[in-house]
Amino acid sequence: MRISVVGTGYVGLVSGACFADMGMNVTCVDIDQAKVQRLREGHIPIFEPGLEPLVKRCVAQGQLHFTTSLPDAMANSNVYFIAVGTPTGEDGSADLQYVLAVAKEIGEHLKDYAVIVDKSTVPVGTADKVRATIQAELDKRGVSIDFDVVSNPEFLKEGAAVDDFMKPDRIVIGTESERARAIMAEVYQEFSRNHNKIMFMGVRDAEMTKYAANAMLATKISFMNEIANLCDAMDVDVEQVRHGIGSDSRIGYSFIYPGCGYGGSCFPKDVKALVRMAHEADVKPYVLDAVEARNADQKKVVAAKTQRLLGNVKGKRIAVWGLAFKPGTDDMREAPSIPFITRMLEAGATVCVHDPEAMTTSKREFAPKWIENGQLIYCNNQFDAVKDADALVLLTEWKQYRQPDFARLLASLKAPVVIDGRNVYNPRRMKALGFTYEGIGRR
Ligand code: NAD
Repeated sequence: MRISVVGTGYVGLVSGACFADMGMNVTCVDIDQAKVQRLREGHIPIFEPGLEPLVKRCVAQGQLHFTTSLPDAMANSNVYFIAVGTPTGEDGSADLQYVLAVAKEIGEHLKDYAVIVDKSTVPVGTADKVRATIQAELDKRGVSIDFDVVSNPEFLKEGAAVDDFMKPDRIVIGTESERARAIMAEVYQEFSRNHNKIMFMGVRDAEMTKYAANAMLATKISFMNEIANLCDAMDVDVEQVRHGIGSDSRIGYSFIYPGCGYGGSCFPKDVKALVRMAHEADVKPYVLDAVEARNADQKKVVAAKTQRLLGNVKGKRIAVWGLAFKPGTDDMREAPSIPFITRMLEAGATVCVHDPEAMTTSKREFAPKWIENGQLIYCNNQFDAVKDADALVLLTEWKQYRQPDFARLLASLKAPVVIDGRNVYNPRRMKALGFTYEGIGRR
């Protein structure tokens, strides 16, 4: 099996490496020359557990190749995965310019039958656009070549991407073509060996499945955040409530953790894109609108708590543990840490930050002026960040923050204030240790 994967981001690089690890011959394509060069030299541009040894092993075995040339990759394969970004466009819809640019290039160079796979998250109807774009190029060339466009959305989670790809809950494949179906079944057979995880469905059904999955997860988070805010206002402990409701098998425990709002490259943009699709289809997205509104508000909750506990933060020193949008990744796209830190800096506070993986990413997120004027300080050790701070704010629940040396923490802080944006600490224990503690919806 010879396949090409276009785009070497979180999805493209992980998919390409996992396919290669199963023995397929994979060429990964990216327009970013520096990235391709670095990948060829064995430098992995993102942090993802297990990815580096996997890529190195596949490259050493000659199963995985990197190139900037899509035509070169196409010459060696007949299945082309499109895994480029689909960021939020100006009107909230998914911006398809990168996907359609790849489709155009495929149309310019297609020689024989191929399966073109939309792996990027794309709105319902995109496969038709990809098909039309390729066909328009074939018409320009005056050639007639058969091809199929398949939807195969990706469900991996950053922070566990390799594991998720290797052992998926399901593999959704949208196609109406028997020929493409047989090829896709072969591509995925090794990932579906124990029991059949491949779900074939219509192309549009597969496109919607991805958005519905992410919107459902975002809804669970926003719902729980709303309950947590109610708990805060009504002297109720949301963690007791979470235990109470999660035990109901119809509800379950997953994704009902209150916190400081969801971020990442997927939930915010996918909920927005689904809202846009709903408007275009003339369906009122009452639930999705509320999910977004709650999340936008939730990202302000920790800042409000900090300002309530510290008063005017001008001249205060605030320690932040966690920058990434969740543990296990260096990704900071739409992370709650960004609006929180920005708000504190603008209010005149000094912010000392620590994150085990996202410090480099973070330097791209904040204006250099904050580092230059000394208000934003990067600390290589989590305890350096809390030294003489007026408060510690926890924003990402990395394991190393979960059970810190509390005596050392207490001794390091100037004031014993801990604001826990992820509810990882026990309020009673924190109080007993002498901290002024505030979680999200904890009594
Ligand atoms: P990313 O931004 O990390 O990577 C995209 C890559 O595509 C970049 O390296 C970019 O240089 C490259 N690219 C852009 N145009 C190109 C072109 N014309 N030719 C070759 N390469 C090109 O994106 P990502 O996080 O991997 O996401 C990709 C898609 O997968 C998105 O639609 C996203 O919604 C979806 N998705 C992401 C995740 C996730 O956890 N990140 C999970 C499931 C689905």
